Amino acid sequence: MSKDISRRTFLKGAAALGAAAALNIGIKAQAEDAPPAEESTPEVPDWLGTAPGITDDMCAETMEADVVVIGAGVSGIAAARAASEAGASVIVLERMETITIRGQVFGCLDSKLHKELGAEYDKQEVVNEICVAQGNRVNGALWTKWANESGPAFDWFESIVDEEDTYFLEYWPNPEAYDNSTELRKQYCTGIEFTADGWIHANTRQYEKSVEQGAQYLFSTMAMELIKEDGVITGVYAQREDGSYIKVVAKNGVCLTTGDYSYNEEMVKALCPEFWLATGGKVGTVPTSIGYGSRMAIWAGAMMEPGPHAHMSHSFMGMMGVKNTATLNLNLKGKRYMNEDCDGQSFTNQVIRQPGHVGIQVWDNNWQDMLWHQGISHVAPYPPTTDFEAMQANFDKAVESPSAFLAGANTLEELFEIMGLPVETAVASVERYNELYHGGKDLDFGKRMDRMYPIETPPFYATRSMTAASLITAGLVVDEELHVLDENFEPIPHLWAAGNAAGGRYAAEYPVSPVVATSHGTAITFGRSIGKQIAADDE
Ligand SMILES: Cc1cc2nc3c(=O)[nH]c(=O)nc-3n(C[C@H](O)[C@H](O)[C@H](O)COP(=O)(O)OP(=O)(O)OC[C@H]3O[C@@H](n4cnc5c(N)ncnc54)[C@H](O)[C@@H]3O)c2cc1C
Repeated sequence: MSKDISRRTFLKGAAALGAAAALNIGIKAQAEDAPPAEESTPEVPDWLGTAPGITDDMCAETMEADVVVIGAGVSGIAAARAASEAGASVIVLERMETITIRGQVFGCLDSKLHKELGAEYDKQEVVNEICVAQGNRVNGALWTKWANESGPAFDWFESIVDEEDTYFLEYWPNPEAYDNSTELRKQYCTGIEFTADGWIHANTRQYEKSVEQGAQYLFSTMAMELIKEDGVITGVYAQREDGSYIKVVAKNGVCLTTGDYSYNEEMVKALCPEFWLATGGKVGTVPTSIGYGSRMAIWAGAMMEPGPHAHMSHSFMGMMGVKNTATLNLNLKGKRYMNEDCDGQSFTNQVIRQPGHVGIQVWDNNWQDMLWHQGISHVAPYPPTTDFEAMQANFDKAVESPSAFLAGANTLEELFEIMGLPVETAVASVERYNELYHGGKDLDFGKRMDRMYPIETPPFYATRSMTAASLITAGLVVDEELHVLDENFEPIPHLWAAGNAAGGRYAAEYPVSPVVATSHGTAITFGRSIGKQIAADDE
């Protein structure tokens, strides 16, 4: 279902919660230090708009539950299952016709599977690595919560999954040549991977379980405005597909799990312009990510976390070739531009800063040995399960019928011609790379020598990067128990947020090093925590 939710529609209504509240976007401290300004009405950013101004008398029906969950993605379903398990009555509002599930990996520490396999890590070390990687712009307490609760959350999630929906721990055991302690970007094995279908089944089971426990899902019903009485969130006004409004009273509280804003052009351009760059000037690919939930919370006094907003757009560098492997990388000018020993998101971060936002990966016929000596981050090859013969067949085809996305050739000149690179410069870059290799040190970018492979043995291969721009992983300011905070950093009573509606988790980037799949990992862990808290009526 697609509703007309343009700003014009909302401006028709009264600004129920006021423009000043609407401007709470992490700028209060600055305002306090500034000299007193003359009274003026703060300007409402275009992306924010104002609340539609729905009232009780506009509603055709009133419903009531202990817990109201807004958004039936992975975090909302986890909240609904946990709350109904604890005996609370639950209503879930979802604007689409069905639940929203995508991907296939759950990032956690210390699950039963981790323990069985001996993949155990020092949790504080992992949390520190994450905080450092995020430029210390994140909420360390939230990450500690994830480190402590994600394993039990996975075990809880897994306990009702059908047997045929199997899963495994990514990159475990680590390849022999891999030693985390020597890595520039460390990798703790957090990703428990299902098949894509298995992940859908596994989450459908969570949904079904919550329904069995009494949770009521109202599909094709869009939450439009939070109800705030005497400073407390007491419910939400929502709109049905036929245009009628309903009032849903939340006795204990509201859990906001409405996802991100990557499909909202105004919000992306204003709050995460780098995402715009990563997509080549388009909104994201997830139509449910409209950012309405965040706007609704800001109308009720919440704050959006300050920038930079992080996005998930990890590159499938060489997906058709040797994936995220530390091969030589050239830009469209034929020049090398980075230490290629990095994870998928770091590839993207550098590729989008290159001409045309494109990277070209180059390697030679000694690729099999190279794969055994790579890092193990998301979308890097895992040699123990890699089908080397199938890859070779793919590369042979690339020599017979090369394309600009995967080409093979017996001379570098021919290869770069096909890839559309300035041949002389590109060949000089390869010669320089080979010279650094034989000299025993990467004086240009500092790549470790055991990941430098000279490009000398034909056929030579090249592939073009692809950026998988997905989502924006920033949201509302929350505390370590996921209460949504107001401009004074005080919890807005009875309002919680999880999943991509909540901030505090990512700032520099959506990391695929030092941990993977923490988007689902935090969404489900925190959704579950909120469900339990609201059911227990914890303020
Ligand atoms: C292709 C792809 C693959 C991915 N793979 C992985 C992976 O393997 N591992 C991983 O960790 N992460 C992965 N991610 C990211 C991950 O899927 C998301 O970050 C995660 O699902 C977010 O969950 P959520 O519950 O916050 O929101 P969503 O799953 O986005 O759900 C939000 C829901 O809220 C609803 N909604 C919004 N506004 C309203 C409203 N006003 N009223 C009612 N309903 C509303 C939406 O319709 C939607 O159903 C992937 C992302 C993509 C795009």
